[in-house]
Amino acid sequence: MDRRTFVKGAAVAAGSLVVAAPARAALIPLTRIQRRVVVVGSGFGGSVAALRLTEAGVPVTLLEQGRAWPTGPNANTFPTLRTLDQRALFYGSAPQVFRQPVQFPPYAGLLNAVVAPTMTVLSGVGYGGGSLTYQGMTLEPERQVFEHEFPAALDYDEMHLEHYPRVRQMLGAQTAPDAVIDSPTYKPARIFKRNAEAAGFPVSRIPMPIDWSWAIRELNGEMKPSYTNGDCALGVNNGGKNSLDVTYLRQAEQTGRLEVRLLHRVTDIARTPSCDWEVCVNRTDVYGTTKEQLVITTPTLILGAGSMGTTRMLVRAGANSRIPDLPDGLGTNWGTNADRIYAWSPFTENLGAPQGGPVVYGSLDWADPAYANTVIQASIPPILLAGPGLPTNTTILVGYGVSAARGHFVYNSLLDDAVLKWEHEGDREIQSRIGPRVRAVAGPASLLIDTNLLLGWTWHPMGGASMGSVCDYEGRVLGQEGLYVLDGALLPGTAAACNPSMTIAAVAERAMKRIVASDVGSLI
Ligand SMILES: Cc1cc2nc3c(=O)[nH]c(=O)nc-3n(C[C@H](O)[C@H](O)[C@H](O)COP(=O)(O)OP(=O)(O)OC[C@H]3O[C@@H](n4cnc5c(N)ncnc54)[C@H](O)[C@@H]3O)c2cc1C
Repeated sequence: MDRRTFVKGAAVAAGSLVVAAPARAALIPLTRIQRRVVVVGSGFGGSVAALRLTEAGVPVTLLEQGRAWPTGPNANTFPTLRTLDQRALFYGSAPQVFRQPVQFPPYAGLLNAVVAPTMTVLSGVGYGGGSLTYQGMTLEPERQVFEHEFPAALDYDEMHLEHYPRVRQMLGAQTAPDAVIDSPTYKPARIFKRNAEAAGFPVSRIPMPIDWSWAIRELNGEMKPSYTNGDCALGVNNGGKNSLDVTYLRQAEQTGRLEVRLLHRVTDIARTPSCDWEVCVNRTDVYGTTKEQLVITTPTLILGAGSMGTTRMLVRAGANSRIPDLPDGLGTNWGTNADRIYAWSPFTENLGAPQGGPVVYGSLDWADPAYANTVIQASIPPILLAGPGLPTNTTILVGYGVSAARGHFVYNSLLDDAVLKWEHEGDREIQSRIGPRVRAVAGPASLLIDTNLLLGWTWHPMGGASMGSVCDYEGRVLGQEGLYVLDGALLPGTAAACNPSMTIAAVAERAMKRIVASDVGSLI
């Protein structure tokens, strides 16, 4: 049975984990509960874990700090870049993002920004994690790049024949049909293809978790545009995007064994003397105000809070001795996927407005595994085109690829946080390949702004609790029975020249197959 007491102000320290509430706070109930399995985070790793365990008959409690974002034809659930408001940012984002003060009031919004001195990391928040706001590029690495970047324990053939196809099928990944690409607002995609091919680069359609018939219905005037005017940059307000909430998580809900707790932010984790796991949680409203504190005890804790969330949680727990004897490699082997985001404004060509999105074409230069990289074009909606400092005729080019550069986290006791250390321009070697490719696509008669030179940012954080050093290849944290990492933190700081979500989910599928076979019924 659940046990409930009350925490008042800073006076009551109810249990080792409970963070004191602010002095002015009213009575905040404190509830202690026990659960068989707790999963933190509903992104790619957390969703796969939740589905495969509930299917195996195991009840799962899923804690997610964000809210649900239901969509449908003509919904206004997601903000757009034209109608930007508090829904865009998670309340935990730093007071300054990109050296600008955050102007929105606190809200359980879609993107969390973690700001380190040389790198700002963006990641998705909400029921479905990064799948809500990601563009959806669902790329599988080719064998030679996969084997160059990942440990041999991940057998390429098994991943290629079993786990990647399962993710592709679950997410309904499809490339855009001609009817969409040939329509007027997809002119920037057509120009990208023409220019890239003229420069001698291969071009292919990128698989996306999208039922493109919704875009065609928009073109037929059956609903107001979301895909076809580029308004989908912060989530698709019409249907057809197979984000995790409507795929993996919905199937997990249908088992009847998934307990979903939204607006539940995990503040600390600890190992108890009896080697269970204690999870301290703030239940908030959508404005981030704590309404209840919970301490959940569980024998099985699966961390799926993303590379930044999981790594920082573990490093803090280690530094504060809440989890003794964590592996030495914790907080290392962190990479950016060498993300590079350019604003491209051709002088002699009209890209047209609005621009259809999110992504249609990319150029995959994967022949040399040591320098494999990808360049794509992504739409931006009209408001940014008219934004300060940008010419009106602008679209986005994005590059990413393999890189040996790695960052690490250092615990800062004043902040009680693990702070990312990243060498400025650490990915410069692969940028010497990506930059010329982007410039060749753009052509000389254009303005090309490398936003990373100004900002230093990534959408693709990976690593921090990597397989092979901190965890085994199934995400079991070494020496910590019952503690698992299944998210981007588990990757070895690389996604082999692809966007990460597909590999995070496929690695989680591989892990869960083994965990269900060997741990359920014994450890779980
Ligand atoms: C703008 C943008 C575009 C992108 N486009 C693409 C793309 O096209 N293709 C692609 O493959 N990748 C893309 N990505 C990256 C992709 O979203 C991530 O790689 C992926 O979502 C990571 O999966 P994950 O399982 O590691 O965690 P996430 O998907 O980040 O999920 C982690 C979840 O844990 C929750 N959480 C974190 N901390 C706590 C806590 N303390 N308590 C409770 N819950 C918590 C978060 O709210 C979140 O919901 C994009 C990212 C961004 C920001």
